[in-house]
Amino acid sequence: MTTEEQAIESSVDSTVPNAGATQIAVENPATGEVIAHVPVFSPDEVAEMARRGRAVQPAWAALGFEGRSRVLSRMQKWMTDNAERIIGVVVSETGKAYEDAQLADWAYGVAAAGFWAKNAEPYLADEKISTASPFVQGRKLVLRHSPLGLVGVIGPWNYPITNSFGDCIPALAAGNAVILKPSEVTPLTSLLLLEGLHECGMPEGVLQVATGYGDTGAALIDHVDMIMFTGSTATGKRVMSKAAETLTPVSMELGGKDPMLVLADADVDRAANLAVMYSMFNGGQTCISVERVYVEEPVYDEFVAKVTAKAAGLRNGVSTGPGTADVGAMTLPKQVDVVERHVEDARAKGAKVVVGGHRGHAGRGGYWFEPTVLVDVDHTMACMTEETFGPTLPIMKVADAEEAIRLANDSPYGLSASVVSKDLAKGEAVARRLEAGTVLVNDVLVNYLALELPMGGAKASGMGTRHGKGGIRKFCQHQSILVTRFALSNEPHMYPYKKRVTQGMQKAIRLIYGRGKRA
Ligand code: NDP
Repeated sequence: MTTEEQAIESSVDSTVPNAGATQIAVENPATGEVIAHVPVFSPDEVAEMARRGRAVQPAWAALGFEGRSRVLSRMQKWMTDNAERIIGVVVSETGKAYEDAQLADWAYGVAAAGFWAKNAEPYLADEKISTASPFVQGRKLVLRHSPLGLVGVIGPWNYPITNSFGDCIPALAAGNAVILKPSEVTPLTSLLLLEGLHECGMPEGVLQVATGYGDTGAALIDHVDMIMFTGSTATGKRVMSKAAETLTPVSMELGGKDPMLVLADADVDRAANLAVMYSMFNGGQTCISVERVYVEEPVYDEFVAKVTAKAAGLRNGVSTGPGTADVGAMTLPKQVDVVERHVEDARAKGAKVVVGGHRGHAGRGGYWFEPTVLVDVDHTMACMTEETFGPTLPIMKVADAEEAIRLANDSPYGLSASVVSKDLAKGEAVARRLEAGTVLVNDVLVNYLALELPMGGAKASGMGTRHGKGGIRKFCQHQSILVTRFALSNEPHMYPYKKRVTQGMQKAIRLIYGRGKRA
């Protein structure tokens, strides 16, 4: 195993907990209180769900874009009417701040329902293709996109709407039936949104939610025509390897270690605000984020001072409504151990903790880690090389932009990155040299709101894209159709081969294609 692979594997505990359990006790991670129980679907039950999904899918596809779009548009309205209820459920099962749930889950879901209701048809309508080939002139060439049938979506716990239900929307809009396997930690939001879709007229069985542990997700892979997976790179590899047994296509959004590069001419105030906001947003449990920062020497001290002041003022606590807390709880209990390991490893190797640095909160249940800023860090430390996925901001001084680019690319991951510079041309030039699926200049994360813009990871951060044409076409079977309208009953190139015709064809091909510059 290479060091890079070890870094990816060591970020995840691969043991399957609660094997044989029939129920999941869902906790509020901010308090540790059990708030609900949901069933664990067995592999046989998943197979039964798949049969049901396949049985109802043809009628759903037959509704056409207009019929399906009506249901999704109603869902958009349902989600706006039920804003408080939805945000409340997201907050209760993730422990995140109210604003994080509102901005990055609820608002995304509302926008996505309307976006796919409107754009499924233009993205998937039959495409007439024209060709330069002289041999098929006059033929009709069409590319069509039809639903695959049954799609499986396996989602993580950090964004129960955006990263789980959000992927179901384009799959459904394309005419598929979908089985969603939400994270065991956050199944309640998916169940609520399923209820909403039924109220909006989606027939039973078109979307089904298979609650359960990793085994339920693994069983799902055997029964579907495509898997959309979001989660860790280590689990992604297991999913892909299982999908290979049935040649089931996969699209994957995996882990990341997103760098921010602060250049010497940056607006340091904006750079500091961006760094603090997007390292701590959602308790630091966001795939597209700021996981590490490289700052050019001339602005390093000013940047660290501004980040320190801002991070020290963050309110880390239970969110009871708008404006009550800035940084919420850690959603996954074992994630607190990962964050603590990264902070302790950095400390042991000489890093300085300038803000926070500890797990827990006196007198409070649940799972917590203080918003933490680390300086004097380097690439021997896990906090700079492994996905931390917590409220930490490690900052490293670099001599120049070249060093920043080299260090930013020194990672197995390539999800997203950001560059801060007042010189937009320079910022974009640096962006083009970063090995990441998305790079933002003077911003972080907001590309996710532009649903027209494809988003996907490079390197070990995934394959396939969300959003844009590719974000719905991946849920389709592509079929190319060629129709020959007018033709001779026997064309010259057909059997039997004739010397005169063959030589004539070669002459013609040389005439058409052989007029380029000599080598
Ligand atoms: P996982 O990748 O393990 O889980 C993601 C989803 O896959 C969950 O629904 C999980 O179910 C399911 N699953 C687990 N094992 C299998 C399997 N063998 N076959 C099919 N499905 C399976 O993520 P974790 O929740 O354990 O988080 C681990 C790390 O992943 C985090 O520390 C973070 O670094 C990273 N992560 C990255 C995310 C991103 O958006 N890029 C999102 C979340 C996490 P169950 O929850 O029941 O185990």
